[in-house]
Amino acid sequence: MSVLEIRNLHAAVEDNEILKGVNLTLRSGEIHALMGPNGSGKSTLAYVIAGHPHYEVTEGDILLDGESILDMEADERARAGIFLAFQYPVAIPGVSVANFLRTAVSNVRGYTEQAKKNEGGVIGSNLMPMREFRRELNAKMKEYNVDPSFARRYLNDGFSGGEKKRTEVLQMAMLEPKFAILDESDSGLDIDALRVVADGINKLATPDRGFLLITHYQRILNYVKPHYVSIFYDGRIVKTGGPEVAHMLEERGYGWVEQEFKDAQ
Ligand code: ADP
Ligand code: MG
Ligand code: MG
Repeated sequence: MSVLEIRNLHAAVEDNEILKGVNLTLRSGEIHALMGPNGSGKSTLAYVIAGHPHYEVTEGDILLDGESILDMEADERARAGIFLAFQYPVAIPGVSVANFLRTAVSNVRGYTEQAKKNEGGVIGSNLMPMREFRRELNAKMKEYNVDPSFARRYLNDGFSGGEKKRTEVLQMAMLEPKFAILDESDSGLDIDALRVVADGINKLATPDRGFLLITHYQRILNYVKPHYVSIFYDGRIVKTGGPEVAHMLEERGYGWVEQEFKDAQ
């Protein structure tokens, strides 16, 4: 059981304060949906948790199982079990899905780090051994109904929305993060692709893993049942409740959030 606690988090980019006191606790076994209007700072929060160097934390803290992670670089946070799926996955022609995943897994499991430490001494590979990796990848592809040929294709190169989502799910399945943050991973998807990501999340939502599901639309919440839904507005969480909060947003739109919370500041 792990806890990721965000306490009074303030963060700035180029001297503009974007996050203005975020309080949020994620626990393993829970799915927390975060909804809010465009520009409210949801992606900023995701990047700050993941340790993107562009953002400066000016106040508050982020604690993983009671320990601050603010001094950790992004790759250390990934090794500690924090995963961020980007809103717009990049295509990397020339790098296969398998190679991409092997590199990512090797980083997160510390092979790369270990190889750096060994430099000058006995130098091991900085990657997870191929056979071991292959065995695991094949097992995961079977478990997640991904065609074996998929591993040889170039990463996201000409992928359909559904195929991109398959890669994302496979990546999470291989990395086995404690906390997965999905930033509008459902935006612009057709129904089949939405199902891929929703089924993946449901399968990956084990008692030892927590999810922060950032979404603009209620739609994915028809397939993934969140334990909590929070509304994000102007750099902070302004309301938290159960799934009914998402339905209310769906009915009343984001204009209502603005009306209600603008005056409250
Ligand atoms: P959301 O994901 O909720 O749409 P963002 O976190 O992307 O919101 O953006 C919040 C605000 O921060 C916006 O006003 C945006 O212009 C600003 N912002 C985000 N990233 C940067 C950046 N790298 N440089 C300057 N401003 C940024
Ligand atoms: Mg945005
Ligand atoms: Mg965003």
